[in-house]
Amino acid sequence: MSTSKNNLNQMALANMAFSHSPYSNKKIGASVLLSNGKSYSGCNIENASYGGTVCAERVAIWKAYSENLSEVKIQEVVVASNEASPWPPCGFCRQVMAEFCTPETTVRLINPAGLEIVFIFKNLFPEAFKPEHLNK
Ligand code: ZN
Repeated sequence: MSTSKNNLNQMALANMAFSHSPYSNKKIGASVLLSNGKSYSGCNIENASYGGTVCAERVAIWKAYSENLSEVKIQEVVVASNEASPWPPCGFCRQVMAEFCTPETTVRLINPAGLEIVFIFKNLFPEAFKPEHLNK
């Protein structure tokens, strides 16, 4: 358990280095662990149009769901930022997470100094708009 957690944290921290963030200069990394045991990572990829920018969390999630069926759920999400108070997922990312996370999915916000803030998804986004609202 702790090895998996450490690995997932390391994946998120390592992906900060790949960040394309010439506009914000904020390098963010993320990783996700799926219920089938597979894990994926991503970084923020900014765009000169600004609107084309994608957060690290969504890059990791889209990588995961381009190779896995949506029946597989996200068990853990890690977001790494070089901030004294590690950044949480933005509203867009929380909405995307609501599609694939369970209420009990663990969300860890970490920084390279070793700080870790842990949420469960239902507390991070308690009134999410979910597929059930569309009877899906
Ligand atoms: Zn985001």
